[in-house]
Amino acid sequence: MFEQGVIRPPSEAFSLLVRVTRNCPWNRCLICPAYKGTSFSRRSVEEVKRDIDMMAEAYGSQTSRIMSAFLQDADTLILPTAELIDIMKYLKVRFPAITRITTYARAKSMKKKSIDSYKQLRDAGLTRIHTGMESGSLKVLKMIRKGITPDDILTGGLRVMASGISLSEYIIPGVGGKTMSQEHALETARLLNEIRPNFIRVRTFAMHPESPMQKMVADGTFVHMNDEEIVAEIRLLVENLDEMHSHFRCGDFSLNLLMQVDGFLDTQKKAMLEELDKYLSLTSEEKQAYSFLQRSYPGQRPFDVVKDPKALKQLSREVEKLGKKGEDGFNKYIRMVMSSQLPQPQTDKWM
Ligand code: SF4
Repeated sequence: MFEQGVIRPPSEAFSLLVRVTRNCPWNRCLICPAYKGTSFSRRSVEEVKRDIDMMAEAYGSQTSRIMSAFLQDADTLILPTAELIDIMKYLKVRFPAITRITTYARAKSMKKKSIDSYKQLRDAGLTRIHTGMESGSLKVLKMIRKGITPDDILTGGLRVMASGISLSEYIIPGVGGKTMSQEHALETARLLNEIRPNFIRVRTFAMHPESPMQKMVADGTFVHMNDEEIVAEIRLLVENLDEMHSHFRCGDFSLNLLMQVDGFLDTQKKAMLEELDKYLSLTSEEKQAYSFLQRSYPGQRPFDVVKDPKALKQLSREVEKLGKKGEDGFNKYIRMVMSSQLPQPQTDKWM
């Protein structure tokens, strides 16, 4: 049977998943449960080709319907360019309708490839790279043990953009906690304005209950932000982003409170700021009701609901009940609901 890894971006839900390496070569980020308890290994080109053969056999006459593929796992660009080209060419032989091949990569590996290598990869079929920059702040990157620097992110990102391959940069509002919120927003905006990626994908921070970051909360070195504070941080970020042709995306991740803040910065920045301000101008009671509704029962048009006095009263009763469950009870509930949506580590010894 062919292999498949544990995760892929939401935008690759309909892509053929081709595993070219196993797990993550870094695997030390404190924010990420996905590969904890696993170890990294490369796969030989022959092994990957055998998987492609097995997938082609499994799909049979349906192979001609497969138009998109995603190369797994966490850092495909760690492989030599020639091996990746060989794999993609073979993939296109066995699945001739494929016109789109995308992958994940770490900034460290992205920095090691030249513009010329990226152009070769583009010519062989690589159309998009998804990468987690998380923050433009060196302090934040160090705190979460990301193992990359703003220079890695910038150098690799600029090379990908220069080659014509589409680039998705992932960022995490709230990951700096209260103490580093402003620096996190401003440094992230500064770096993104230099890279000008095709996509800026927003992934609001949620802490896994077994993350070693829980110790940082206990000793006071990390202070959680609530929904209102995170929305204010996103506003500061958007305000400082240039009106460039980058798609600022909140709509493809359910942990983003305002999923409707989603559009191109060159044409929709003002509208996105207005939407953020619409939430920030709610009363405290309305904001809590909004969070409770969106986190507990997503898809309910929260702005309309919290402006209905009867509905607001009902929601506020629920918020009040949660508030009585100990110190910071309401925000603890919100964090618990959010963390329950994270992938699970593959070990019980992450902490
Ligand atoms: S965030 Fe990315 S680099 Fe960090 S451990 Fe997870 S998969 Fe690896």
